[in-house]
Amino acid sequence: MSMAAGEYVSVSSQSDTERADLETERQALEDEPEGELAELAQIYVSRGVEPDLAHRVAVQLTEHDALGAHARDELGITETAGAQPVQAALTSAASFSVGALLPLIAMMLTPLALAIPVIAGATLLSLALLGALSAQAGGAGVLKAASRVTAWGALAMALTAAIGSMVGGVF
Ligand SMILES: [Zn+2]
Repeated sequence: MSMAAGEYVSVSSQSDTERADLETERQALEDEPEGELAELAQIYVSRGVEPDLAHRVAVQLTEHDALGAHARDELGITETAGAQPVQAALTSAASFSVGALLPLIAMMLTPLALAIPVIAGATLLSLALLGALSAQAGGAGVLKAASRVTAWGALAMALTAAIGSMVGGVF
């Protein structure tokens, strides 16, 4: 729930920012179309298009869908990439719950005396496995992804354990 809530808030803020940026852009297109046309042409020039051609492209795109062209090429907002807070929250909740199952199962099968080393080991193993799977799915380097997620997971566990041992005994 905390990961889902964090994700929801984060993606909602991004979505709000995008909407505000689009509104600013829409207003600018209304108030100063000439300046906006020059700005759009300049974006294409900076990406390597000749000034004359860039101007013609900007004119045609402005006639076709001015706001769409500015959203895409100036703000970097595309329709498919539009932030989806609820979808992000549900995905986050589901993936964290499934990921937490592995150490949870390991804990249920282990006698209490061995709980801490077994949970730490099972967690690191799960992280390495899931890191490798996600890299495989995304077509990225498996070893790099697995070691990155395992190292950060180990660091997070070590810091959590350190803070827990500092304040845990007092309360
Ligand atoms: Zn613009």
